[in-house]
Amino acid sequence: MRFLCVLGVLCGLSSVSFALEREAFTIAKYDLQLTLEPEQQRLGDRGKITLRNDSAHAQKIVALQISSSLNWRSIRVDGKVVQFVSQTYVSDIDHTGALSEAIVTLPAEIKPKESVDLEIGYEGVIPRDTTRLTQVGVPEAIAKHTSWDQISPSFTAVRGAGYVAWYPITTESADFSEGNSLFEVADRWKARAAGTEFKARVTVSGESSEAPSTMICSSGNDNFIQQSSRAQQVSAECSWKRLGTVTPTFAMAEYVVESKAPLTVFSFPGHEAGAAKYSNALEPAMKFVAGWFGQPTAPVAIVDFADANSAPFESGTLLMASMAAEDSKLAGINLVHELVHSALPSSRPWVYEGLAHFAEAMYRQEQGGRQAALDFLGLHRAAFLDAEKEASAAPQKGVGQALATTFDETYYRSKAAYVWWMLRDMVGDEPLKQALGKYRADDDKDPKYVEQLIESAAKRDLGWFFDDWVYADRGLPDIRVQSVHPWKTENGVQIITVTLENLGGAGAEIPFTVTFEGGEITKRIEVHAKGTATTRVEMAGTPSEIRINDGSVPESDLTNNTFKITAP
Ligand SMILES: [Zn+2]
Repeated sequence: MRFLCVLGVLCGLSSVSFALEREAFTIAKYDLQLTLEPEQQRLGDRGKITLRNDSAHAQKIVALQISSSLNWRSIRVDGKVVQFVSQTYVSDIDHTGALSEAIVTLPAEIKPKESVDLEIGYEGVIPRDTTRLTQVGVPEAIAKHTSWDQISPSFTAVRGAGYVAWYPITTESADFSEGNSLFEVADRWKARAAGTEFKARVTVSGESSEAPSTMICSSGNDNFIQQSSRAQQVSAECSWKRLGTVTPTFAMAEYVVESKAPLTVFSFPGHEAGAAKYSNALEPAMKFVAGWFGQPTAPVAIVDFADANSAPFESGTLLMASMAAEDSKLAGINLVHELVHSALPSSRPWVYEGLAHFAEAMYRQEQGGRQAALDFLGLHRAAFLDAEKEASAAPQKGVGQALATTFDETYYRSKAAYVWWMLRDMVGDEPLKQALGKYRADDDKDPKYVEQLIESAAKRDLGWFFDDWVYADRGLPDIRVQSVHPWKTENGVQIITVTLENLGGAGAEIPFTVTFEGGEITKRIEVHAKGTATTRVEMAGTPSEIRINDGSVPESDLTNNTFKITAP
């Protein structure tokens, strides 16, 4: 895939005699001043960015990219105008399917690890645009529910890199129709920008008399939700000391605003009942989250959509989701997720998002029992099953992603949710709560920090588990019954000796249930990668069947989990 991208770069610049390294520079710092004119769907920016050369050699050329519906106006270094060439660069990382690229010649070469400050200016419009989806065959009517970013007089919502490049980025071309190309380029950008400091003040132009009165910007600050009344100019500031997995996003509409710390609900008039589902869910959700993850303190914003069919989106503690449906179950689950972020900040995606999804599953269990939680996790398994099949089949190719370092959502959300669930099943609620209670984002520097917290609370060696699931991607387990020997003691007690075999590359502690005349019994057993484990089970009647895995372990193959026991 990387080969194709490099080829794309060369093809795109056939008139230039050097190979442009588009990902050589990382933008280490943004300080932007944006002005919106909603009636014109217009955005203008004057700001400063700091470029850091992350490549191995000196660089004099940088390719800065913004959405193709925006245009570069000026680029300066030390107050002096620098030369640049503008061109359209085809890439599905933007909703328009293309970027406006400024190929900038810097006044001097920038050595590896060194930085340069640029003053930049660009402007243009951000209307709703479904191009990158419709050009790969998604019907317009469906595409617009996903591609909802826009500036408009009644509803403005614009997500950043990966959706709309409303601030400059530096990426290779991403292609939606090329397998995982888009996700690889977007994930790579996220990983490169994880440590970036981001600040953007978004202000409605003084000329705009019709603009809505509420603006929201996702932010990493404690006082994060910004909202302005008409008395002053409407504005908001989005800022983070480091971006992590966050996508800078702003929204503006004539919202009904209701606040009860730490939650603020922004809803459209007519969606009062849907908004109330969130307010009503707050108390039980707070109680549940506080019991596991500590007291939620950072502000949480739930923001409504004008179009009820819009696909939900979250970034940090901001969730955009339609409130038209009045679904109290969903409101509770959504709220739990955001409150976990509020209570437990972490710069590790698998901890930050993994715990939030894990909490959703636990909340389901509280409301509907363990099976409801496992059904919910089952939906997550589907998300990473294919990727893990590739990883298991060809581990030497490095197609897999270590959970500890990945910026791929399917891993740090879906796989991580399972990993936390398995850890809970293995060590029990109290030790895991104790470990989470001691977790501090600032102390999380050593990759083994989480493992050590849980091991010391649980007094159990979990090195093998973290090796297989967190520090490396060894695919998934595939556990089956290798053999069963039923026998009876002299005083008539029924016993079976069970040997389980793990055909996969990741070990697991897996539950298995033996059905016998008059009942069933469930046990748990550790089966390491490519290994076997044997145990004995005593029961009150003749055994007939063994079922492995209740759904809590994400195996690659679930078809070999039932075994009929025949009489000896
Ligand atoms: Zn989240």
